[in-house]
Amino acid sequence: MANVIEEAKSGRAACRTCKQPIAKGALRLGVETPNSFGDAPSLQWHHLTCAAGKLPVELKAALAEYPGEVPDRAALDAAMADAIQKGNAKPGGFPYVDRAPTGRARCLQCREAIDKGVLRVAIERDIETGGMAQKSAGYLHPACAATHAAEKELDLEVLVEGLKSNSRVPELELAEVVATIQA
Ligand SMILES: [Zn+2]
Ligand SMILES: [Zn+2]
Repeated sequence: MANVIEEAKSGRAACRTCKQPIAKGALRLGVETPNSFGDAPSLQWHHLTCAAGKLPVELKAALAEYPGEVPDRAALDAAMADAIQKGNAKPGGFPYVDRAPTGRARCLQCREAIDKGVLRVAIERDIETGGMAQKSAGYLHPACAATHAAEKELDLEVLVEGLKSNSRVPELELAEVVATIQA
């Protein structure tokens, strides 16, 4: 995914995070988003301060490539670290590890509820609704993930690599989940 920082060429684009317009000339982050019709990916724009709170990994990568001066860089760095620490950052796609925001989701494998606030594994699966195949999010206890992968013939290494690149939780927490899966 190519993410880019540039000065807004007009004041017409709205920030995808806060929905407010991005002023002409302000620095903005463009995140490449796959197009649902299979065309070339399009860019979605975010204020840098909004991106720091929701897309810290994408912003960090784009900042590393940006040759110009970025105002309030120290504040952005602090906000990015804070977002990861608090688990506010948006995952980079499926599969990913996050903390269950509620206690409502059930584990795909053991069918038990996943307690609010615990680390869980989110995967995308195909479900049938009214004869239509659809993609839907499913959740697993880390301890149930390996059994689930084996039953569904999912490659465990591919799952783990996906979790490592898409998760936006602190590194130690991710390492804990990966260790549980590989145990
Ligand atoms: Zn914004
Ligand atoms: Zn389970």
